[in-house]
Amino acid sequence: MTTTRFAPSPTGRLHVGNIRTALHNWMLARRDGGRFLLRIDDTDAERSREEYVDAIRQDLAWLGMEPDGEARQSERLALYDAAFDRLKAAGRVYPAYETAQELELKRKILLGRGKPPIYDRAALDLTDEQRAAKDAEGVAPHWRFKLDHDEPIVWEDGIRGTQKFDAAQLSDPVIRRADGSWLYMLPSAVDDLDMGVTDVLRGEDHVSNTAVQIQMFTALLAAQHEAQQMPRFAHEALLVGAEGKLSKRLGSLGCDAFRERGLEPAALVALLARLGTSQPVEPIADRRVLVEGFDLSTFSRAPARFDDAELDRLNAAIVHRLDYDDVAARLPEGMDKAGWHAIRPNISTIGEAAEWWRLVTGPVAEIAFEADDRGYLAVAAQGLEWGDDPWASLTGRLKEQTGRKGKALFLPLRQALTGMDHGPDMGELLPLIGETETRARLERAAASPED
Ligand code: GLU
Repeated sequence: MTTTRFAPSPTGRLHVGNIRTALHNWMLARRDGGRFLLRIDDTDAERSREEYVDAIRQDLAWLGMEPDGEARQSERLALYDAAFDRLKAAGRVYPAYETAQELELKRKILLGRGKPPIYDRAALDLTDEQRAAKDAEGVAPHWRFKLDHDEPIVWEDGIRGTQKFDAAQLSDPVIRRADGSWLYMLPSAVDDLDMGVTDVLRGEDHVSNTAVQIQMFTALLAAQHEAQQMPRFAHEALLVGAEGKLSKRLGSLGCDAFRERGLEPAALVALLARLGTSQPVEPIADRRVLVEGFDLSTFSRAPARFDDAELDRLNAAIVHRLDYDDVAARLPEGMDKAGWHAIRPNISTIGEAAEWWRLVTGPVAEIAFEADDRGYLAVAAQGLEWGDDPWASLTGRLKEQTGRKGKALFLPLRQALTGMDHGPDMGELLPLIGETETRARLERAAASPED
């Protein structure tokens, strides 16, 4: 069964980049009828915050991507300890004692010689006596995973195609700090195996992590007997701003900002589902359509450009298609289906419905008309008849009675009835305003003081 996971570190709010990653994992799982798991990567106790865990859950719920299960790394430490012990017994982890300053110096020297700053494995050369001496001094080691330089690292990436890495060109990663706490790499691999994750889909900033983790997966699988499998990997190109650059703003742009702007989660989903793929971004509110079409082979390797203006346009287009039943609870009081249909084409967010609804409920702005328009509006009020289509009969009659046409015919009526020069279709609006109120507004306008 396809199992994907979204694995945020709760050190901040979700931003548009990781919302996109979450969405694609959700879509992949839904398309295959599989499972989408939320894994809170909270091994960094100092930087992880409970408020962010809650915010992540809320954001996923708002986006309609509730996970099928949730796990927290802070509750799974025993599993990592066990894996660590197995890897240690297999000679794949080793203690190292360098201080951060020493490591930094080594890096600088290598870089100064024009060489890649790969860890020199000096810790592997320590004798038992030297290690014992460090321990006696009270210097606790940190722990590195020993890459196998002879084992080729190759995988078929779902987006990037065949990927090859030379283990000798990579540093043995530190997996555990001197205080016993975990870095990201090993717990993630342990969890992916334990949780039966079949597909790891994440940003391309993780490509070199994958190279290292593939050796971890292999080592973990070799050291145990359970039927577990290495997941497939796919790395998507990163999201950039509309101007084409990695953008700081995107790194802090999250669901709270989208909510405040009154945007529909469906708009965000429609945009992020296809942004950076060869499929057209369209105002598709039905996620089943998006999910069915989800296909990693359509993902481009070029960065995907996130454009706020495109999101706004998409939102408006989606709002224009929303059914009354889907929005009723969020509409101003008294606004019925006919009201929604009249006003829907004029709004770009549902919040704007209230402004337009005031044209129906009144009071509307008073406009000072010229004398001949006042006369015209008096004629409009006097002969007002109410039928199936009061606007058509009103304008039809006035055209005949006054010889007016076009703007001269329509604009004074719209102004008198709504206090505005533009707005929703009058034919739809008039039945909502009602006969009594229509007459009252026309009469008031006819009697309005001179301009
Ligand atoms: N916690 C990691 C991150 O947020 C997870 C990466 C992954 O998907 O493995 O970058």
